[in-house]
Amino acid sequence: MGVPKTLSDLIPFLDAAIAQYHLHSTDSPVNLQSLLNELNINLKYSPISLGIHGYSFWDSDLDPQMTINIRERRHQQRSTEAHELIHIVKHAPGQERYSFDGQPDDLKEAEADYGAAYLLVPLRVLKERVRAGLTFEQIAGELEVTKSLVYKRYEIALALREL
Ligand SMILES: [Zn+2]
Repeated sequence: MGVPKTLSDLIPFLDAAIAQYHLHSTDSPVNLQSLLNELNINLKYSPISLGIHGYSFWDSDLDPQMTINIRERRHQQRSTEAHELIHIVKHAPGQERYSFDGQPDDLKEAEADYGAAYLLVPLRVLKERVRAGLTFEQIAGELEVTKSLVYKRYEIALALREL
């Protein structure tokens, strides 16, 4: 589907969070802990069926809950945390449970994926590493995210003419 047009609604929030918590100020993998804390997100790791990366929902007190599949590798878990975070901030609370896979609402899933890419792949690092000839896989390894998120951040950069 490519970069959803609605991503532009989300970017001011993401830019503010990136600035406030200095998320992109180093070359280290982006640490979302301070943002998760600020949003009162209760994060836990549990074994979930194969193929489901995680899900989020609001409990009966409307506190956001996020469950990440403990069986997956760390790069996937970090990418899922950012994806679910976007669902929590962008998509209205309700009974619906969002999963990273197999969700019929493609627009919400695309927003969560591209929003996660925007959070976890700093543009400066992406540009420097691409210029240095690194592959998306190598950049993903350095940033501890999935290769898919690096590719999606590159697509955003092309769409926004950031390169
Ligand atoms: Zn999702």
